[in-house]
Amino acid sequence: MTIHDLIVARRDAREHSLAELEFLAKGAADGSIPDYQLAAWLMAAYLNPLGPRETAWMTAAMAASGERMDLSGLPKPWVDKHSTGGVGDKTSIVLLPLLAACGLTVVKMSGRGLGITGGTIDKLDSVPGFNTNLTPDAMKAQAARIGVALTGQTPRLAPADKALYALRDATDTVRSVPLIVSSILSKKLAGGAQIVVLDVKAGSGAFMKTVEEARELAGALEATAQALDLKVVATLTDMDQPLGRMAGNALEIREALDTLACRAQGRFRTLCEHFAGVALHASGRAADFEKGKSRAALALDSGAALEKAIEWFAAQGATIDASGGADLPTAGHVLDVSHDGAPGWVARIDAQAVGEAVVLLGGGRAKKEDAIDPAVGIELACEVGDRAEPGQLLFRVHARDRSAAESARERVLARWLVSAEEVAHRPVILPRP
Ligand code: URA
Repeated sequence: MTIHDLIVARRDAREHSLAELEFLAKGAADGSIPDYQLAAWLMAAYLNPLGPRETAWMTAAMAASGERMDLSGLPKPWVDKHSTGGVGDKTSIVLLPLLAACGLTVVKMSGRGLGITGGTIDKLDSVPGFNTNLTPDAMKAQAARIGVALTGQTPRLAPADKALYALRDATDTVRSVPLIVSSILSKKLAGGAQIVVLDVKAGSGAFMKTVEEARELAGALEATAQALDLKVVATLTDMDQPLGRMAGNALEIREALDTLACRAQGRFRTLCEHFAGVALHASGRAADFEKGKSRAALALDSGAALEKAIEWFAAQGATIDASGGADLPTAGHVLDVSHDGAPGWVARIDAQAVGEAVVLLGGGRAKKEDAIDPAVGIELACEVGDRAEPGQLLFRVHARDRSAAESARERVLARWLVSAEEVAHRPVILPRP
């Protein structure tokens, strides 16, 4: 078998065998297939998408392309969580200690942000002392001891994905459902996952811009996982406006801690309770989703989730005080932006524009190697469906200096809309027929 056979088969839309996909994944992982041939195969696979059986084989082959974590021996059941990414998405920082406080074990590998999509590791790096670099053994031992551990991704798990993802990024072949599915699930399989709750985002700040596209991705993720004996439950969530009130690394940590300390309510807390309900039900720790959700709400209200977060941060070298405070970096310049038009309703807070503003401020990366400023970002004072009166604060820009703050303000306002007609609040959890 040669890579030419695979390129020709894909170009002509002929089905691959498992052996062919194993050859491809191995060649991507060990560098024996050159990038130009992998790129040709990727473009062919973008134009002639892999079928369901091929997607499952590709996922298994990519998972087998490197080391695999063995989490057996952990107090069961253990749960992982994954989001397809968005603006203001700090869910893991609340959900992990929340699930651990509800009796689950959570082991998670997270990534860094690229473009408008933030990464959990960048957010946690803004907390002084937080160690995002645990070895697999240390991670497993910590999860067994306190029920929660999180670390950055190791290139040793699913190395085929690392190579293929970099080429997809460079060749505009990222937005292919089978390629996204095999990329996400191969890392979960290699990481030893048992149950995965998936947050599939739809809207301007997400990979999938429409609900229909997100629905297709969610269905393909679940079907492929089922074929591989991995339990996956996907939920569609709104990413047309940012999640919660903060976008920017340290600001998002602050909002996550405020949520754990019950100082922040609203759409972000609703989403955290939803995923906790899904995980508790999927793992058999709650008789149904509603009971799981109520249990999660109780763990937040009683302070049990905050207590677990304090224990988790301490285990990874950082300090949260008893009221959920932490010594986080703050920006030098804060600019308040108020409504200067006629009264109305907030009709659009474009997630993509807010994400771009965070990148402009230095809080996100345009290129992988860019350094980021943890203190900067956008703090929203309202959400879609809220009333906007003249002079009312709409959002606050946290910036290094005045000129950066003004550029970010312009970027957000360019796609901000206040309507004279009443606008309904939008649900954060989207329906799946
Ligand atoms: N996230 C991944 O890990 N891979 C993709 O292809 C897309 C999103």
